[in-house]
This record gives sequence, C-alpha cells and structure tokens, in this order.
Amino acid sequence: MRRELGQSFWGDLGDLCSAVGRAMRITFINFFRKPVTVHYPDVQRAYPDRFRGVLALTYDKETGEENCIGCRLCEYICPPQVIKVEMLKAEKRNFAKVFTLELYACEFCELCVQVCPTDAIIMMKSFDMSTSDRRELLLDKDRLHQIGLQFEPSWATGNLLRDMQTPPKAPRADAAEPSAKAAGPGPKPGGAAE
Ligand code: SF4
Ligand code: SF4
Repeated sequence: MRRELGQSFWGDLGDLCSAVGRAMRITFINFFRKPVTVHYPDVQRAYPDRFRGVLALTYDKETGEENCIGCRLCEYICPPQVIKVEMLKAEKRNFAKVFTLELYACEFCELCVQVCPTDAIIMMKSFDMSTSDRRELLLDKDRLHQIGLQFEPSWATGNLLRDMQTPPKAPRADAAEPSAKAAGPGPKPGGAAE
C-alpha cells in the first residue's frame, strides 16, 4: 500500500535525501558538459544564410546610388502595413522620397524582400536592435540604409528568391526534334510489324 506524506518521519527524510541525491547527480553531470550558451554580445553565433533578421535598404555597389525606386510594391504586400513609401519622380529613374518602416510591428515574413524588383530592401543576419523605447524602432530611410551597411546581409534578395521559385522551363519542341529524327520513324498506326 502507498505510504501517505508525513506518515513516517524517517520515510519522508529518506525520500528527501533520495531526491536531493538525484538532483545533485544531474548537476554533477552537467558540470563537466561543454556549455551550449554563448557570451552574447561578446561572442556571436554564426547565423544561417537564410536568417530573417532586421530589415535594411541597400545602395548600388557600383554607382553608390540608392537601389529603391519608390515603386511601393513592398508597401502594398506588407500584411501588417508597416511600410510607408512616397515616390520621388526624377529624370532617369525614380527614388523613395520618404521610406519608413515600423520594425516593432514587423512580422519578419520576408514578403517585402520577395517582391522588391531592385533588391533594395533586404534582411540582415542580425536581430541586435533591442531597446526599451519603441520610437527607436520606427526606422526612416537613412536609418535603414545605415543598418544595411552595419550588418551582414542575408542570402535572400528579391531577384534570387524569384529565380529560386521559378519552375524549370519545359524543353522546346524544336530542341527535342533531332533526337526524335535520330530514333527513326515510329510504329505505324495499328502497330502491325512488316
Ligand atoms: S517582413 Fe513582412 S511584415 Fe515585415 S515589413 Fe516586410 S512585408 Fe512587412
Ligand atoms: S524597397 Fe523595393 S519594393 Fe519597396 S519601394 Fe523600394 S524598390 Fe519598391
């Protein structure tokens, strides 16, 4: 029969010692295990290539110009509507006159990156923007460009993602024709051998 708690002082003491012994055994084993934690921020983990971190705007590496053309596709696709863009029309190309992103309400879904035609908005391999003041996470164009220079970019850009998701093209009919000719005439209707 099961013994009730408090029924025997020596029994309870034995249970207590046994529990402490089991707990100390686990502590002792873990004392000699390799630590799994890192001393962040002094030590940084290596993030995977597709890490979806904070968002940033980019410059063209050759010309130094802003890549954003103010097309507003990212604004239209964003589910929580945290992006606001105003286009500035110019002679040769358009720019974003205003670009703001409310990072505190971002879902990190990557849709804005996927639709951007000029790879202007990307995600970085970092989340290192913690703050106790929400206003610091309302990012304007300058801040977004600065983040783009500050952290390492993720692999994903709009053009790379679209290339990856495009289904492979079916072989063209005229490309398949020579091999069909080489194989000779097919069986005659009715399938009768001569
Ligand atoms: S990652 Fe998603 S939620 Fe965040 S800004 Fe882009 S589209 Fe909006
Ligand atoms: S970031 Fe890309 S999608 Fe958004 S307005 Fe600029 S060019 Fe268009």
